[in-house]
Amino acid sequence: MSGDGGDTPLMPDVQSNPEDAHEAGPSHEAPRAHDFLDRTRFPVDSWRLVEDRFSDVNLGTTETVFAVGNGYLGMRGNVEEGRESHSHGTFINGFHETWPIQHAEEAYGFASVGQTIVNAPDAKTMRVYIDDEPLLLPVADLLDYERVLDFRSGVHTRDVLWRTPAGKRVHLRTTRMVSLTQRHLAVMTLEVTMLDEYAPVAISSQILNRQDGEDEYHVPSKAMGEGVDPRRAERLIRRVLQPVLHNGDAELGRVELGYRCSDSGMTLGVAADHEFSTENVYTSNIHVSEDLAKVIYRIDAEPGKTIRLTKFASYHTSRGVPPRELLDRCRRTLDRAGADGVEKLWADQQAWLDDFWERSDVEVEGEPEIQQAMRWNLFQVAQASARAEGSGIPAKGVTGSGYGGHYFWDTEIYVLPFLTYTRPTAARAALRFRYTLLDAARRRAVELAQQGALFPWRTINGEEASAYYAAGTAQYHINADIAYALAQYVAASGDLDFLIREGIDILVETARMWTDLGFWFSDDGGVFHIHGVTGPDEYTTVVNDNLFTNVMARFNLRRAAEAVRELREMDGPEFDALVERLHLRPEEIGDWERAAEGMSIPFDDHLGVHPQDMHFLEREVWDLANTPLDKRPLLLHYHPLVIYRFQVLKQADVVMALFLQGELFTDEQKRANFEYYDPVTTGDSTLSGVVQSIIAAEVGYDDLALRYFMGALFVDLADLHHNAADGVHVASTGGVWSALVYGFGGFRDHGGRFSLDPRLPESWTSLTFRLTLAGSRVRVTLRSDQLDLAIEEGVEVTLDVRGESVTVTPDTPASIQLKGQGPRLDGEPAPIAGRRRADGSIIGAIVPGS
Ligand code: BGC
Repeated sequence: MSGDGGDTPLMPDVQSNPEDAHEAGPSHEAPRAHDFLDRTRFPVDSWRLVEDRFSDVNLGTTETVFAVGNGYLGMRGNVEEGRESHSHGTFINGFHETWPIQHAEEAYGFASVGQTIVNAPDAKTMRVYIDDEPLLLPVADLLDYERVLDFRSGVHTRDVLWRTPAGKRVHLRTTRMVSLTQRHLAVMTLEVTMLDEYAPVAISSQILNRQDGEDEYHVPSKAMGEGVDPRRAERLIRRVLQPVLHNGDAELGRVELGYRCSDSGMTLGVAADHEFSTENVYTSNIHVSEDLAKVIYRIDAEPGKTIRLTKFASYHTSRGVPPRELLDRCRRTLDRAGADGVEKLWADQQAWLDDFWERSDVEVEGEPEIQQAMRWNLFQVAQASARAEGSGIPAKGVTGSGYGGHYFWDTEIYVLPFLTYTRPTAARAALRFRYTLLDAARRRAVELAQQGALFPWRTINGEEASAYYAAGTAQYHINADIAYALAQYVAASGDLDFLIREGIDILVETARMWTDLGFWFSDDGGVFHIHGVTGPDEYTTVVNDNLFTNVMARFNLRRAAEAVRELREMDGPEFDALVERLHLRPEEIGDWERAAEGMSIPFDDHLGVHPQDMHFLEREVWDLANTPLDKRPLLLHYHPLVIYRFQVLKQADVVMALFLQGELFTDEQKRANFEYYDPVTTGDSTLSGVVQSIIAAEVGYDDLALRYFMGALFVDLADLHHNAADGVHVASTGGVWSALVYGFGGFRDHGGRFSLDPRLPESWTSLTFRLTLAGSRVRVTLRSDQLDLAIEEGVEVTLDVRGESVTVTPDTPASIQLKGQGPRLDGEPAPIAGRRRADGSIIGAIVPGS
C-alpha cells in the first residue's frame, strides 16, 4: 500500500491570486487563494476532473475521486494494469458479509451481527506487457499522460505515451464506464499502438478475486497494526467469498466466476465478454480457475497498427439465488451489451447524463474552480444513487469500503433533498427502500422495549449494525430523519400515492416509537421529555432532551397525526385499510399531538440559547482554538469519556435543528445559537461544514458561510479530512447542493411552503440552480440585487421571495429586485469563553490533557 499520509498533496504548495480564470477548457493558471487543488496537476475544467501529470503520491485519494459507479456497481480509479494501487476496489451496493460482533462485555439488545460490504472480484484489470515488460506508471518513462473523469459522458479515460525500457514509444488509451442505464454493466476499452517499432505485446484481461494480500478480507496481521479509526470498515480475517463456479468460453472470449459469502450466504456472479480487433497477427487463449479468470492475447504488434480490446463486465448479486442463476443473468446482460455495442452504450450514458444535468446543474458565473468542484460533487451523488434502486445509499456510495458500506441518516438528510428537488423518482426509490426495512425496524423496537418501529442507526440488511450504542443505536433521531425526508418528498412531489400506500406506515410506526420512548414528567406542568438519546453530535452521548431530537420528534409526531387525519377525511377505503393493517386506535392520534405540543424544548434565558440537551451548558468548555492540529480529529486522539465530558461538538446539532426546523426559531435565537455553538464545533464529521455554511449564511456570516462551503466542496478532491482514500463522503457531496440552494439560495421548504431568501456570496456574480416542484422545473438565477425565475419544464411554480408570493408560468418568467436582506456580519463568532452564565460565573475553556 502506498501511504495516504497526513499531508494533502493534491493541494498546491503556494497559493496566489490570478487576475482571471476561464470558464471552459483546461487551464493551468496559478491557483486562487480559495482554491485547494494543485493546478499544475489538476487543471481547471468546468466539466471534467483532469489529471495531466502522473504522481503516485496519494493514490488512495485519486482512486476515490476518479472512481466510476452507478449506485449499484462501483469501481475505484485503480489503474488497468493492476499496480500500483492503494486499495483495489469493486463494490456492489448491499453485497455484504455478516459476522458475529464480539462485545468484550455483552448486554441485552446489543447489535449482534456485523455487516460489511465485500470487495467484489475485480474486473478492471487489463495488464499490458511490451517486450515482456509490464507497464508500471511510477517507474515508467512517461512522455505524456492524461486521466479524465468526464461528468457529461460518464466515462473515465486515460491516455499514456510510454517509452518502454527498450526505448520504444507506445500509446495506450483506456476507457472505463459503469453504465448509468444498465445497472449490472461496466464497459472498458484498451487500445495499444506501437508508434515507431515492432514489439511483441501481451494483454492479460482478468477477473481477479484478490488472494495476493491486497484484498482487505484476506489480510491478517497488517489490518490489526493500522491503528484505530472507527470510520474504516472492519476487516475480516478469513476468506469471505467461497468459490462456487468458474467457466470459460474461448470462442466467445467469455469468462465467469460465481461465489457465495461464507456467512451472509449472499451470492455473486461476475462475467466478462471480450471483443478484440487488430490488423496484427495474434493468438488468444483463456484460463479460468476459482479466483482468477483471464483472457490472454499475444500480438505481433507492427508500428501504427492499433490493438483494440473491448471488455464488457457484468455483476449480479442476490441474497440467496444460486450463482449458477446469477451467471445466467450476467450472460443476458452481456449478450444485450454486445448486441448494442460500445458506441451505443456510450451514447446512452451521455443521454442519461444530459438529462441529469438538465435537471440538476448548478452554475456559478466567473468561478471556474468552484464550478468544476461543484459538478464533481453533484456527479458523485448521481454515481451513488442512479441505480441504487432497491438498496439504500451507502455513506461512501460505491467508491470505497469506509463505514462498511452502511446506510445512515446521511441518505435522508443529506442526499435526499437533492434527489427530491431534482430527480424525485430516485428519492422515492430510497424512501421505498426504508419501507422495505419496516418489519426489521419493528423487531428492533421490540428489542429496545419500545412500541412502533425503530430504524437502525447503521445497516445494510435492516438489522442494527452499530456495535457502539452510545454513538449509534442511541441516535433515535434516525426515525424522525426518515419521516422528515418522506414528508419533504411528498410535499415537493405531490406523490400522495406513495404516502397513502407505504409512507404513512413509516410515519405512524415512527410516531408510536416517540410517544412510547418519551414520558410526561408530572411535576413540570405537562412537559413531554425524551431521555437517554444521542443527537447528531456524536461527541455528546446518551443525554436527556437533546434539542435536535425533540424538535424532529415533534415534527414526526405532528406529520403522522396530520397524515392520518387527512386520510380519514378522504373518506375512502384507504383509511380503514390503514386502521386494520396497523391496528390503529383512534386515541393514538391525540396522543401524538399532545406529545408534540408538550415537547420539552430547553432554553437558557440568560445566554439566550437552546442548550443542546438538558445538561449541556453545565459541562466544561473545550478550548478548540488552542487545541493543536495534531490532536484533530478529537475522536482519534481522546478517549470518548474525555470528549463526552465537554462542550465540544463533532458536528452541527442545535445548528442542524435551526436548519431543518427553522420556522420554530426567531432570527435572534438563530443568531445567538449559531454564535454559541460554532466556536465549539470541530467539524470532525464532514456532515458538519455544509450545515454550518447554511446557517452562517442565514444569520449573516457571509464570509464564514463561503469558507465552510469551500471546505465541503473540496473535502474529497483535496482530501481535507485525510480519509478520502476510504471513499467519497457522499453526505457532504449532497450537502454541497444543500449549501448552494438552502444556504446561498436561501431556499426553505418548511411545512410544504417554498420560499427563497437569497444570500449570494459577495464575490460571486451569479448562481443558477433548478428546483422541481410538483413536476414543474423552475430555474432560479440569483444576482446580488436581482432574482430571476423561469419555468424550464411543466406548468407553474409559486414561491415566496422575501415575503412576497411570486408565481411563474412558462409564459411569464419573473424578475424580482432584491431588497431587505438581513445583516452582513464580518469575521466569525467569538469563542464562548468569557461569557457570563446566569449565576454570574464566567465561562472558561480548557484543552484536556494540556
Ligand atoms: C457522523 C454521522 C454520519 C456517519 C456516516 C459519522 O462520522 O458523525 O453523522 O452518519 O459519519 O457518514
